[in-house]
Amino acid sequence: MIYRKENKNISLKEINKKNILKIVMEMGPISRIDISRHLKISRPTTSAYIGELIKDGLVKEIGKGDSTPSGGKKAVLLQFNGRAGYILGVMIGVKTIRIALTDLGSNIIEIIKIPTEEWFGPDAVIDKLVKNLKKIIRTSKVNKEEIIGIGVGATGLVDSKKGLVIFSPNLDGWNNIKLKEIVEEKIGLPTFIENECRVQAIAEKKYGLAKDVKNFVCVETGTGIGTGVFIDNKLMTGDKGMAGEVGHIITDLAGDRMCHCGNTGCLETLCSTNSLIEDIMADIRKSGKFVDYGGRKLKIDDLYRLYEHGDKIVTGNVEKNAEYLGIGISNTIKMFNPELIIIHGEIIKFGNKYLSKVGESVSKKTFPKVKDNYNIQFSKLGENVGLIGATSIVFNSIFDLDSSSVAGHYIIKKKIS
Ligand SMILES: [Zn+2]
Repeated sequence: MIYRKENKNISLKEINKKNILKIVMEMGPISRIDISRHLKISRPTTSAYIGELIKDGLVKEIGKGDSTPSGGKKAVLLQFNGRAGYILGVMIGVKTIRIALTDLGSNIIEIIKIPTEEWFGPDAVIDKLVKNLKKIIRTSKVNKEEIIGIGVGATGLVDSKKGLVIFSPNLDGWNNIKLKEIVEEKIGLPTFIENECRVQAIAEKKYGLAKDVKNFVCVETGTGIGTGVFIDNKLMTGDKGMAGEVGHIITDLAGDRMCHCGNTGCLETLCSTNSLIEDIMADIRKSGKFVDYGGRKLKIDDLYRLYEHGDKIVTGNVEKNAEYLGIGISNTIKMFNPELIIIHGEIIKFGNKYLSKVGESVSKKTFPKVKDNYNIQFSKLGENVGLIGATSIVFNSIFDLDSSSVAGHYIIKKKIS
């Protein structure tokens, strides 16, 4: 089993093994000689450490590459072995809980989606989560000993160091919930928790558009609005996990719609998908065409279709929504000056027409005298981006490949075949 070991006196050998593993993960398939050149450590030492990583099951040989330009013999290539262990990822959203079993490379093997039904309160939601975590462990063909941990992305203010959900504006009754402690006690696996937007940013940094970007912001828009911010390759959490709560920046001083956080005038009250639907329904009723629109409250899926077809009421409101989102993004640009802004959430199904409206609003509201092109893109990691990020926090915490000095390092208790 692979697990994390707290050790202030990590040896040079362990540092080198971690660096080799990192290079194999980021640059593989790669030969021993290229790794040795890259890390500037001798070929015999590199080979010895690679031998240990192969024995641990973390690196595997995958055949030979091309011969060298001078006609030298072909080198054996090495690749990270994602199947050396498994991770459970969880995303607790306002509407849906997703649970996935992945390999160490965050490739999804099995996935369960269940409704959150947050109105039953935190105890019921956590009971359901625990039951389904046990179910996925039971039904998968993986031994529990091979699962290195559970990563949870949760909506709301999360103190990842303490493992607490401090407060969740969109989940009723979630105040100071010791989620890490509860899941660890009930499942018996090391558990790591993080805010859902930060988890998405972690996924973008490891696998997505921000792989080679130092300063970027992920903006999640849906029932709520939040951000995950990386500055100089470091995830910002703030003192108590409150950094990046863009959705609750007061945007409309005269606004009287109550936000779930308890304030009025928050950005979220202007451009969450809930407020978009409310605004559209109000306009439909005003127009006297309620029956023409199906005689019921429209859902987000209806809006994609109506927007695509250029429906006047829907288009007007979606464009207003894009303008408000642009205001939120322009505020984050002024705060963090990111190279890239990545948009996540159900809003991205409105497509490129919507994205260009967001871009127009950002350009209008961000230093009009500076003719700058802001790089704003939709995420390309798909609807399971949060799960990819949630499992990444487990991998990052246990293997800790970015830290080469004092933090913990992984150890292998027994060889994994
Ligand atoms: Zn608010």
